[in-house]
Amino acid sequence: ETPAAPNFLRPIVQADLDSGKHQKIVTRFPPEPNGYLHIGHAKSICLNFGLAKEFGGECNLRFDDTNPAKEDQEYIDAIKSDVRWLGFEWAGEERYASNYFDQLHGWAVELIKAGKAYVDDLSPDEARAYRGSLTEPGKNSPFRERSVEENLDLFARMKAGEFPDGARALRAKIDMASPNMNLRDPILYRIRHAHHHQTGDKWCIYPSYDFTHGQSDAIEGITHSICTLEFEDHRPLYEWFLANLSVPAQPRQYEFSRLNLNYTITSKRKLKQLVDEQHVEGWDDPRMSTLSGYRRRGYTPEAIRNFCEMVGVNRASGVVDIGMLEFSIRDHLDATAPRAMCVLRPLKVVITNYPEGQVENLELARHPKEDMGVRVLPFARELYIDAGDYDENPPKGYKRLEPNGEVRLRGSYVIRADEAIKDADGNIVELRCSYDPGTLGKNPEGRKVKGVIHWVPAVGSVECEVRLYDRLFRSANPEKAEDGGSFLDNINPDSLVVLKGCRAEPSLAQAQAEDRFQFEREGYFCADLKDSQPGAPVFNRTVTLRDSWGQ
Ligand code: ATP
Ligand code: MG
Ligand code: MG
Repeated sequence: ETPAAPNFLRPIVQADLDSGKHQKIVTRFPPEPNGYLHIGHAKSICLNFGLAKEFGGECNLRFDDTNPAKEDQEYIDAIKSDVRWLGFEWAGEERYASNYFDQLHGWAVELIKAGKAYVDDLSPDEARAYRGSLTEPGKNSPFRERSVEENLDLFARMKAGEFPDGARALRAKIDMASPNMNLRDPILYRIRHAHHHQTGDKWCIYPSYDFTHGQSDAIEGITHSICTLEFEDHRPLYEWFLANLSVPAQPRQYEFSRLNLNYTITSKRKLKQLVDEQHVEGWDDPRMSTLSGYRRRGYTPEAIRNFCEMVGVNRASGVVDIGMLEFSIRDHLDATAPRAMCVLRPLKVVITNYPEGQVENLELARHPKEDMGVRVLPFARELYIDAGDYDENPPKGYKRLEPNGEVRLRGSYVIRADEAIKDADGNIVELRCSYDPGTLGKNPEGRKVKGVIHWVPAVGSVECEVRLYDRLFRSANPEKAEDGGSFLDNINPDSLVVLKGCRAEPSLAQAQAEDRFQFEREGYFCADLKDSQPGAPVFNRTVTLRDSWGQ
């Protein structure tokens, strides 16, 4: 395992515990249920749940569900399942910001009564114009000086459903000239006549993210509210609400830099577009950067957690190389995945000097280092090797099989290619070979045979489908499209190659969904979660054996 990179929040938490500021830390992971979790979320999950675990605290799972139009129960279920798959469990039941809608509404009324919030009738476009810009102060809305009574009445009528979407909004009265745009009378409540997956039709006004987040943290007793750097400028507002409302606790917000990975999209909106427009087969397509996609691809939770440790937690911007994630899964599978042989493009081999009907059950170790026992490969007269392991006109230094050349079959004998049988079009359909009976576990006499190739017996091997996945995007920065195109133009057209009629060694016939293997010389593979059946396996390539990208 690669050493972890520093996490600047560890010493902060340690100091807060040492000083007695907190007896126990409480963190939260707050996804909006508007899509599936992706690898960027994994960083936040590992950070929030990881700190809680490390320091004996707790981590809540809270759905940040203030935007009902884009949210769905499907996403809630998927998020819970993915967090658990990554190896974490939240404290108690999962929580919902919508559980706090009554309390948040009460706090909004409290602000109105204190003269710190008002109902604004400016349209969204007008409000934008009044807001000013980074270089220009904003202007006060003409509705800013409404009386408390009028504001209470209008807010009650907003809640009662008297006005259409966008007609009015409740805003905090802070400072339209603040250099921080977030303090220019931010919106607290919007009118949105929408059905909510948790609260049904109870509400037609919904609190903004800013008005919800910090107060939800306070309600839950969150001690360290950790978010990505985009929210740094929101921190003064986060603190303004905590200072101006009768909240039960004073959480603190800390920001860290989000994970950006090259060759990878980590935006739920774009991932949803890939799904909706059927560029992939779903949120859990093995090419997706979603956790459910990585899971189906064959990634392990350990590898993803280890990757997050390797990345570290800091406030520097940067792009992490996808090679680091691929290293992490290779590293874990090298240590844990049993070895097996699977011939992806079968070419029949007949060992002409091997007696018909004879079978030798050869035992091969399942793993070169770990004690995982053995599997049995029946060696017989008819076998399959990969068509790519025989070349009539081999390049110099070729170490596989060539006319009259020799090669060792992995864990078995040395064979020599005597004759290639071709069909009418000149395609090789069968190789006639002879074996050297003195070479089982021994070098041949008087000559060196360098090459070793994989093989399976014709009888006993199982026909299977193999899906060779590659990176979904061919460009290191897929967000950036050339000539006004979109990220979709960067899709790698060869990101999936489906091979049918592959032959796997007998021990793979009963592979269970999600069983992982190293197919010798081919890479790491996983029996597909959805489509693989014992007796008819389907294998997904998780990652190649070595980093061959771009070579
Ligand atoms: P997206 O941009 O994909 O919609 P989001 O931040 O809107 O992401 P949320 O559901 O709000 O998605 O995210 C939940 C938590 O995960 C937040 O605390 C957010 O900061 C964190 N998170 C999201 N993306 C990343 C990332 N790339 N790296 C680290 N943390 C992330
Ligand atoms: Mg968000
Ligand atoms: Mg988002």
